[in-house]
Amino acid sequence: METLLVDRFGRVHDYLRISVTDRCNLRCVYCMPEEGMEFEPDDRILTFDEIVEVVQVLARVGVRKLRITGGEPLVRKNLEVLIGRLSAIPGIEDIALTTNGIFLAPRAERLKEAGVTRVNISLDSLRADRFSLITRGGDITKVLASLEESVRVGFQPIKLNVVLMKGVNDDEIADFLRMSIERDVTVRFIEYMPIGHDDDGWRTRYIPLSTVLDVCADNGWAVAPHGEVYGNGPSRNYRIEGARGTFGLIHPVSDHFCESCNRLRLTADGNIKPCLYWTDEFNVRTYIGNPEGMQDMFFRALDVKPLNHEMAQALAQQAQSHTPTVRRMSQIGG
Ligand code: SAM
Ligand code: SF4
Repeated sequence: METLLVDRFGRVHDYLRISVTDRCNLRCVYCMPEEGMEFEPDDRILTFDEIVEVVQVLARVGVRKLRITGGEPLVRKNLEVLIGRLSAIPGIEDIALTTNGIFLAPRAERLKEAGVTRVNISLDSLRADRFSLITRGGDITKVLASLEESVRVGFQPIKLNVVLMKGVNDDEIADFLRMSIERDVTVRFIEYMPIGHDDDGWRTRYIPLSTVLDVCADNGWAVAPHGEVYGNGPSRNYRIEGARGTFGLIHPVSDHFCESCNRLRLTADGNIKPCLYWTDEFNVRTYIGNPEGMQDMFFRALDVKPLNHEMAQALAQQAQSHTPTVRRMSQIGG
């Protein structure tokens, strides 16, 4: 029988998120500081050959789905070439992309041809001036053009990632929900997470996602669960009655979804993170050219994977059982 990546708690891991760069063309307020971000030098970033080797080993032990992320994945040169090589690996069935959408429109068709089937586009405001403030300079017209081009080339599904922040964009919840009524897209509201924050700014802007259901009720929108409770990931999905699209709630802080966690993360500098939140990492570089050793390392990584993260304890300023990562979200990939 095929050996699978099963951890101590019986969770089967069939999904790898690959951060292809820690660099980004934006500086979203919840993700990176405005200035002073230090990036890995090029020679510390995994090459395409190394990423392919890691995925080949993981595909042999049951990884079927990949998500390409970053930093901003579209700032990595020749990304289409990497995607073409990954989609040719036996066992890989699905390749998704998470992007800020600024550079997507002109490359959407080539990315689709290379093997990307689905896209998540981050869009935290529908107002141009506010979008520019949140992203520190992003041009929303480029993101909206990428959304239209994603529909045209046939990415399916198309998801919009919205990180909700109290006093910043929570007055747009109804506008985003209207978008899910009018368009065949999934709007995914994400709780602001305390990843890599050296200050407590997130604590004051954090807002629980039950607020989204309150907004539905205030507007008289009847809401029904859509699909499985968690579907294929951490999002709890709903549809407003009569809507063309759906919306999802990703609430790692108020109600974590760790019991169904099926993912590993590969950082741009070559570290496997069994859990988004904790500090444990395993360097794959040491095992390049040694597939058996690398496979053993993946099992060791799973052996230390804890049952859950403790972001709720962080919010409540309670003691935590492990050490949280010092990496920023841009260095992990979300
Ligand atoms: N640059 C791409 C993008 O923005 O879509 C991919 C990388 S980004 C780190 C992946 C996702 O993480 C984005 O949807 C972003 O909004 C989300 N994210 C970043 N920092 C976050 C935080 N502190 N809390 C919640 N989500 C966060
Ligand atoms: Fe860049 Fe994405 Fe982080 Fe925004 S969320 S700074 S686009 S990596």
